[in-house]
Amino acid sequence: MQFVQEPPELSEEFAPSARTCPEYTKAFVPSQIPTPPPSDTETSPDPTTPFQDSFTAAQTSTPESDPPDETSLTTVSRTFRPDSRIHTYYPDLVLLSSDSIHFYISYNVLYSLSSNAFNGLLPMSQNQPIRDAAVINVPEHSDVLNVVLHTVYGVSCSQYAPAFESLSAAVGALDKYGYSLSQLVAPSTPLYTLLLSHAPLYPIEVYTLASRHDIFDLAVPTSAHLLSFSLPSLSEDAATRMGPKYLKRLFFLHLGRTDALKRVLLSPPHPHPPTSNCSFDNQKGLTRAWALASAYLVWDARPDMSVSMIESTLSSLGKNLQCDTCEDGLQARIKNVVGQWCVVKVSLILHAIFHT
Ligand SMILES: [Zn+2]
Repeated sequence: MQFVQEPPELSEEFAPSARTCPEYTKAFVPSQIPTPPPSDTETSPDPTTPFQDSFTAAQTSTPESDPPDETSLTTVSRTFRPDSRIHTYYPDLVLLSSDSIHFYISYNVLYSLSSNAFNGLLPMSQNQPIRDAAVINVPEHSDVLNVVLHTVYGVSCSQYAPAFESLSAAVGALDKYGYSLSQLVAPSTPLYTLLLSHAPLYPIEVYTLASRHDIFDLAVPTSAHLLSFSLPSLSEDAATRMGPKYLKRLFFLHLGRTDALKRVLLSPPHPHPPTSNCSFDNQKGLTRAWALASAYLVWDARPDMSVSMIESTLSSLGKNLQCDTCEDGLQARIKNVVGQWCVVKVSLILHAIFHT
Protein backbone atom coordinates (compact mmCIF):
# COMPACT_ATOMS: atom_id res chain seq x y z
CA MET A 1 0.00 0.00 0.00
CA GLN A 2 1.31 3.39 -0.91
CA PHE A 3 0.19 6.76 0.35
CA VAL A 4 1.30 10.11 -0.77
CA GLN A 5 2.74 12.46 1.77
CA GLU A 6 0.26 14.51 3.69
CA PRO A 7 0.10 18.12 2.51
CA PRO A 8 1.52 20.26 5.30
CA GLU A 9 -1.61 22.37 5.66
CA LEU A 10 -3.97 19.45 5.93
CA SER A 11 -5.42 19.45 9.40
CA GLU A 12 -5.76 16.44 11.56
CA GLU A 13 -9.47 16.65 11.05
CA PHE A 14 -9.03 15.62 7.46
CA ALA A 15 -6.24 13.22 8.10
CA PRO A 16 -7.58 9.73 7.85
CA SER A 17 -7.09 7.54 10.83
CA ALA A 18 -7.55 4.19 9.12
CA ARG A 19 -4.92 4.32 6.47
CA THR A 20 -3.51 0.97 7.19
CA CYS A 21 -6.79 -0.66 8.00
CA PRO A 22 -7.04 -3.74 5.77
CA GLU A 23 -10.82 -3.84 6.13
CA TYR A 24 -11.00 -0.39 4.67
CA THR A 25 -8.95 -1.25 1.65
CA LYS A 26 -10.88 -4.40 0.96
CA ALA A 27 -14.35 -3.26 1.73
CA PHE A 28 -14.40 -0.26 -0.53
CA VAL A 29 -12.83 -1.55 -3.65
CA PRO A 30 -15.31 -0.54 -6.36
CA SER A 31 -16.39 -3.15 -8.82
CA GLN A 32 -14.81 -1.33 -11.76
CA ILE A 33 -11.30 -0.44 -10.89
CA PRO A 34 -8.17 -0.27 -13.01
CA THR A 35 -5.76 -3.12 -12.73
CA PRO A 36 -2.30 -1.89 -13.58
CA PRO A 37 0.75 -4.08 -13.78
CA PRO A 38 1.95 -5.16 -10.33
CA SER A 39 5.04 -3.04 -10.65
CA ASP A 40 2.88 0.09 -10.80
CA THR A 41 1.30 -0.68 -7.50
CA GLU A 42 4.58 -0.48 -5.66
CA THR A 43 5.92 2.69 -7.17
CA SER A 44 6.02 5.96 -5.32
CA PRO A 45 2.91 8.10 -5.54
CA ASP A 46 2.72 10.59 -8.32
CA PRO A 47 3.66 13.96 -6.81
CA THR A 48 1.54 15.75 -9.38
CA THR A 49 -1.64 14.31 -7.90
CA PRO A 50 -1.26 15.19 -4.23
CA PHE A 51 -4.93 14.97 -3.35
CA GLN A 52 -5.31 11.31 -3.93
CA ASP A 53 -4.22 8.12 -2.31
CA SER A 54 -3.39 5.04 -4.29
CA PHE A 55 -3.52 1.70 -2.66
CA THR A 56 -3.55 -1.89 -3.67
CA ALA A 57 -6.02 -4.39 -2.45
CA ALA A 58 -6.59 -8.01 -3.13
CA GLN A 59 -9.63 -8.53 -5.25
CA THR A 60 -12.55 -9.66 -3.21
CA SER A 61 -12.83 -13.39 -3.36
CA THR A 62 -15.72 -15.69 -2.63
CA PRO A 63 -15.46 -19.15 -1.16
CA GLU A 64 -16.10 -20.56 -4.61
CA SER A 65 -13.51 -18.55 -6.38
CA ASP A 66 -9.84 -19.23 -6.66
CA PRO A 67 -7.56 -17.37 -4.34
CA PRO A 68 -6.77 -13.92 -5.74
CA ASP A 69 -3.66 -13.93 -7.82
CA GLU A 70 -3.64 -10.34 -8.96
CA THR A 71 -4.06 -6.96 -7.38
CA SER A 72 -6.21 -3.96 -8.14
CA LEU A 73 -5.35 -0.33 -7.80
CA THR A 74 -7.94 1.99 -6.37
CA THR A 75 -7.20 5.65 -6.19
CA VAL A 76 -9.15 7.62 -3.65
CA SER A 77 -9.35 11.32 -2.99
CA ARG A 78 -7.28 12.25 0.01
CA THR A 79 -9.94 14.53 1.44
CA PHE A 80 -13.05 12.67 0.32
CA ARG A 81 -12.35 9.22 1.66
CA PRO A 82 -14.82 6.69 3.03
CA ASP A 83 -13.74 7.57 6.56
CA SER A 84 -13.68 11.34 6.05
CA ARG A 85 -15.47 13.37 8.69
CA ILE A 86 -15.58 16.75 7.01
CA HIS A 87 -19.29 17.18 7.56
CA THR A 88 -21.89 15.95 9.99
CA TYR A 89 -23.23 13.92 7.08
CA TYR A 90 -20.92 11.01 6.49
CA PRO A 91 -20.02 9.72 3.00
CA ASP A 92 -22.65 7.52 1.42
CA LEU A 93 -22.01 8.06 -2.30
CA VAL A 94 -19.07 7.70 -4.65
CA LEU A 95 -18.22 10.01 -7.53
CA LEU A 96 -15.74 8.69 -10.05
CA SER A 97 -13.82 11.31 -11.99
CA SER A 98 -12.81 10.93 -15.63
CA ASP A 99 -9.33 9.86 -14.55
CA SER A 100 -10.75 7.21 -12.21
CA ILE A 101 -10.31 8.88 -8.85
CA HIS A 102 -12.93 7.95 -6.27
CA PHE A 103 -14.50 10.69 -4.19
CA TYR A 104 -16.58 9.54 -1.23
CA ILE A 105 -19.17 12.17 -0.51
CA SER A 106 -22.45 12.72 1.28
CA TYR A 107 -25.59 12.57 -0.78
CA ASN A 108 -27.28 15.09 1.49
CA VAL A 109 -24.49 17.65 1.18
CA LEU A 110 -24.44 17.44 -2.61
CA TYR A 111 -28.19 17.25 -3.05
CA SER A 112 -29.28 19.96 -0.63
CA LEU A 113 -27.41 22.79 -2.35
CA SER A 114 -27.99 21.70 -5.94
CA SER A 115 -30.97 23.02 -7.87
CA ASN A 116 -30.86 20.20 -10.42
CA ALA A 117 -29.84 17.13 -8.38
CA PHE A 118 -26.25 17.46 -9.55
CA ASN A 119 -27.32 17.81 -13.17
CA GLY A 120 -29.65 14.86 -12.77
CA LEU A 121 -26.92 12.46 -11.72
CA LEU A 122 -28.07 12.01 -8.12
CA PRO A 123 -30.82 9.51 -7.30
CA MET A 124 -33.99 10.72 -5.63
CA SER A 125 -32.86 9.32 -2.32
CA GLN A 126 -29.90 7.56 -0.84
CA ASN A 127 -30.29 5.11 1.99
CA GLN A 128 -27.58 2.66 1.16
CA PRO A 129 -24.61 2.09 3.45
CA ILE A 130 -21.38 3.31 1.99
CA ARG A 131 -20.13 -0.18 1.14
CA ASP A 132 -23.14 -0.62 -1.14
CA ALA A 133 -23.15 2.88 -2.54
CA ALA A 134 -23.47 3.33 -6.24
CA VAL A 135 -20.55 4.74 -8.18
CA ILE A 136 -21.57 7.75 -10.25
CA ASN A 137 -19.35 8.65 -13.16
CA VAL A 138 -18.77 12.33 -13.80
CA PRO A 139 -17.00 13.77 -16.85
CA GLU A 140 -14.76 16.13 -14.87
CA HIS A 141 -11.10 15.44 -14.25
CA SER A 142 -10.18 14.86 -10.61
CA ASP A 143 -8.37 18.22 -10.49
CA VAL A 144 -11.66 19.93 -11.26
CA LEU A 145 -13.92 17.65 -9.23
CA ASN A 146 -11.67 18.12 -6.22
CA VAL A 147 -12.26 21.89 -6.36
CA VAL A 148 -15.99 21.44 -6.97
CA LEU A 149 -16.47 19.19 -3.95
CA HIS A 150 -14.33 21.29 -1.63
CA THR A 151 -16.42 24.28 -2.66
CA VAL A 152 -19.73 22.53 -2.08
CA TYR A 153 -18.50 21.37 1.32
CA GLY A 154 -17.39 24.93 2.08
CA VAL A 155 -13.77 24.02 2.78
CA SER A 156 -10.66 25.35 1.14
CA CYS A 157 -8.59 23.27 -1.26
CA SER A 158 -5.70 25.73 -1.20
CA GLN A 159 -3.40 23.05 0.20
CA TYR A 160 -3.53 21.39 -3.22
CA ALA A 161 -2.63 24.63 -5.02
CA PRO A 162 -5.05 24.04 -7.90
CA ALA A 163 -4.12 25.60 -11.22
CA PHE A 164 -6.20 28.47 -12.49
CA GLU A 165 -7.48 26.29 -15.32
CA SER A 166 -8.88 23.85 -12.76
CA LEU A 167 -10.50 26.63 -10.77
CA SER A 168 -12.01 28.09 -13.91
CA ALA A 169 -13.37 24.73 -15.02
CA ALA A 170 -14.70 24.14 -11.51
CA VAL A 171 -16.73 27.34 -11.65
CA GLY A 172 -18.31 26.14 -14.89
CA ALA A 173 -18.94 22.71 -13.37
CA LEU A 174 -20.56 24.20 -10.26
CA ASP A 175 -22.90 26.14 -12.51
CA LYS A 176 -23.70 23.02 -14.51
CA TYR A 177 -24.40 21.00 -11.36
CA GLY A 178 -26.94 23.53 -10.17
CA TYR A 179 -25.01 25.38 -7.47
CA SER A 180 -25.42 29.07 -6.85
CA LEU A 181 -22.24 30.89 -7.82
CA SER A 182 -23.39 34.02 -6.02
CA GLN A 183 -23.42 31.91 -2.88
CA LEU A 184 -20.36 29.70 -3.37
CA VAL A 185 -18.10 32.27 -5.03
CA ALA A 186 -19.04 35.15 -2.75
CA PRO A 187 -16.36 37.27 -1.06
CA SER A 188 -14.51 35.45 1.73
CA THR A 189 -15.54 32.02 0.46
CA PRO A 190 -12.65 29.62 -0.18
CA LEU A 191 -13.10 29.51 -3.97
CA TYR A 192 -13.43 33.29 -4.21
CA THR A 193 -10.21 33.73 -2.25
CA LEU A 194 -8.39 31.26 -4.48
CA LEU A 195 -9.62 32.88 -7.69
CA LEU A 196 -8.70 36.34 -6.49
CA SER A 197 -5.21 35.12 -5.61
CA HIS A 198 -4.71 34.41 -9.33
CA ALA A 199 -5.83 37.89 -10.39
CA PRO A 200 -2.34 39.49 -10.32
CA LEU A 201 -1.00 36.81 -12.69
CA TYR A 202 -4.11 36.14 -14.77
CA PRO A 203 -6.11 39.38 -14.58
CA ILE A 204 -7.88 39.16 -17.93
CA GLU A 205 -8.63 35.45 -17.45
CA VAL A 206 -10.10 35.98 -13.99
CA TYR A 207 -12.03 39.04 -15.18
CA THR A 208 -13.40 37.11 -18.16
CA LEU A 209 -14.42 34.23 -15.90
CA ALA A 210 -16.16 36.62 -13.52
CA SER A 211 -17.85 38.34 -16.46
CA ARG A 212 -19.02 35.14 -18.04
CA HIS A 213 -20.73 34.03 -14.84
CA ASP A 214 -21.67 37.56 -13.75
CA ILE A 215 -19.70 37.30 -10.51
CA PHE A 216 -19.66 41.03 -9.90
CA ASP A 217 -17.76 40.90 -6.61
CA LEU A 218 -14.89 39.09 -8.29
CA ALA A 219 -14.80 41.30 -11.38
CA VAL A 220 -14.40 44.56 -9.43
CA PRO A 221 -11.19 43.81 -7.49
CA THR A 222 -9.76 41.90 -10.46
CA SER A 223 -10.17 44.87 -12.79
CA ALA A 224 -7.75 46.84 -10.62
CA HIS A 225 -5.06 44.53 -12.02
CA LEU A 226 -6.11 45.35 -15.59
CA LEU A 227 -4.75 48.91 -15.68
CA SER A 228 -1.65 47.73 -17.51
CA PHE A 229 -3.63 45.47 -19.84
CA SER A 230 -3.37 46.46 -23.48
CA LEU A 231 -6.91 46.72 -24.78
CA PRO A 232 -5.93 46.06 -28.43
CA SER A 233 -4.59 42.68 -27.34
CA LEU A 234 -8.02 41.57 -26.14
CA SER A 235 -8.97 38.58 -28.23
CA GLU A 236 -12.31 38.32 -29.99
CA ASP A 237 -13.01 35.13 -28.10
CA ALA A 238 -12.34 36.76 -24.72
CA ALA A 239 -14.51 39.74 -25.66
CA THR A 240 -17.35 37.42 -26.66
CA ARG A 241 -17.11 35.45 -23.42
CA MET A 242 -16.91 38.66 -21.44
CA GLY A 243 -20.12 40.01 -22.91
CA PRO A 244 -21.04 43.64 -23.61
CA LYS A 245 -21.68 44.69 -20.01
CA TYR A 246 -18.28 43.79 -18.61
CA LEU A 247 -16.46 44.68 -21.83
CA LYS A 248 -17.85 48.19 -21.59
CA ARG A 249 -16.76 48.42 -17.95
CA LEU A 250 -13.23 47.38 -18.89
CA PHE A 251 -13.01 50.07 -21.57
CA PHE A 252 -14.43 52.74 -19.31
CA LEU A 253 -11.94 51.79 -16.62
CA HIS A 254 -9.11 52.63 -19.04
CA LEU A 255 -10.78 55.73 -20.41
CA GLY A 256 -11.63 57.01 -16.95
CA ARG A 257 -8.08 56.75 -15.72
CA THR A 258 -6.71 58.42 -18.86
CA ASP A 259 -9.22 61.25 -18.57
CA ALA A 260 -8.20 61.71 -14.96
CA LEU A 261 -4.58 62.14 -16.05
CA LYS A 262 -5.61 64.80 -18.56
CA ARG A 263 -7.44 66.73 -15.87
CA VAL A 264 -4.53 66.53 -13.48
CA LEU A 265 -2.08 67.91 -16.08
CA LEU A 266 -4.37 70.58 -17.45
CA SER A 267 -3.10 73.64 -15.55
CA PRO A 268 0.50 74.86 -16.07
CA PRO A 269 2.57 76.30 -13.18
CA HIS A 270 1.17 79.55 -11.80
CA PRO A 271 2.99 82.64 -13.18
CA HIS A 272 4.66 84.93 -10.69
CA PRO A 273 4.64 88.75 -10.77
CA PRO A 274 7.10 90.03 -13.38
CA THR A 275 10.57 90.94 -12.15
CA SER A 276 13.52 92.64 -13.75
CA ASN A 277 14.93 89.24 -14.66
CA CYS A 278 11.71 87.41 -15.58
CA SER A 279 8.86 89.08 -17.43
CA PHE A 280 5.48 87.58 -18.33
CA ASP A 281 6.86 86.86 -21.80
CA ASN A 282 9.75 84.95 -20.25
CA GLN A 283 7.28 82.88 -18.24
CA LYS A 284 5.24 82.02 -21.34
CA GLY A 285 8.11 79.78 -22.39
CA LEU A 286 7.56 77.56 -19.35
CA THR A 287 3.80 77.48 -20.00
CA ARG A 288 4.38 76.32 -23.59
CA ALA A 289 6.90 73.71 -22.47
CA TRP A 290 4.42 72.43 -19.85
CA ALA A 291 1.71 72.14 -22.51
CA LEU A 292 4.04 70.15 -24.77
CA ALA A 293 5.16 67.84 -21.98
CA SER A 294 1.57 67.29 -20.86
CA ALA A 295 0.52 66.48 -24.41
CA TYR A 296 3.36 63.95 -24.62
CA LEU A 297 2.29 62.30 -21.38
CA VAL A 298 -1.38 62.18 -22.33
CA TRP A 299 -0.60 60.95 -25.85
CA ASP A 300 1.32 58.06 -24.40
CA ALA A 301 -0.98 57.75 -21.43
CA ARG A 302 -1.65 54.38 -19.97
CA PRO A 303 -4.01 53.89 -17.09
CA ASP A 304 -1.15 52.49 -15.04
CA MET A 305 1.28 55.35 -15.75
CA SER A 306 3.73 55.54 -12.89
CA VAL A 307 4.37 58.55 -10.71
CA SER A 308 8.09 58.44 -11.54
CA MET A 309 7.33 58.70 -15.26
CA ILE A 310 5.25 61.83 -14.73
CA GLU A 311 7.77 63.29 -12.32
CA SER A 312 10.82 62.75 -14.55
CA THR A 313 9.09 64.13 -17.67
CA LEU A 314 7.92 67.32 -15.99
CA SER A 315 11.12 67.86 -14.01
CA SER A 316 13.09 68.02 -17.27
CA LEU A 317 11.34 71.34 -17.96
CA GLY A 318 13.38 73.02 -15.26
CA LYS A 319 16.76 72.37 -16.86
CA ASN A 320 16.81 75.59 -18.91
CA LEU A 321 15.08 77.87 -16.41
CA GLN A 322 17.10 80.93 -15.38
CA CYS A 323 14.60 82.18 -12.80
CA ASP A 324 14.53 80.69 -9.31
CA THR A 325 10.92 81.75 -8.76
CA CYS A 326 9.83 79.95 -11.94
CA GLU A 327 11.80 76.92 -10.78
CA ASP A 328 10.04 76.97 -7.41
CA GLY A 329 6.66 77.33 -9.14
CA LEU A 330 7.42 74.40 -11.42
CA GLN A 331 8.46 72.14 -8.55
CA ALA A 332 5.35 73.07 -6.58
CA ARG A 333 3.16 72.25 -9.57
CA ILE A 334 4.87 68.91 -10.14
CA LYS A 335 4.37 68.04 -6.50
CA ASN A 336 0.72 68.93 -6.85
CA VAL A 337 0.30 66.79 -10.01
CA VAL A 338 1.94 63.78 -8.41
CA GLY A 339 -0.23 64.17 -5.35
CA GLN A 340 -3.40 64.36 -7.42
CA TRP A 341 -2.44 61.37 -9.55
CA CYS A 342 -1.91 59.30 -6.43
CA VAL A 343 -5.30 60.37 -5.15
CA VAL A 344 -7.03 59.23 -8.36
CA LYS A 345 -7.61 55.86 -6.83
CA VAL A 346 -8.55 52.98 -9.03
CA SER A 347 -11.22 52.05 -6.55
CA LEU A 348 -12.96 55.40 -7.06
CA ILE A 349 -13.07 54.89 -10.83
CA LEU A 350 -14.15 51.30 -10.36
CA HIS A 351 -16.95 52.39 -8.09
CA ALA A 352 -18.11 54.97 -10.62
CA ILE A 353 -18.02 52.47 -13.48
CA PHE A 354 -19.41 49.38 -11.79
CA HIS A 355 -22.18 51.05 -9.86
CA THR A 356 -23.70 53.08 -12.69
ZN1 LIG B 1 10.29 83.51 -13.45
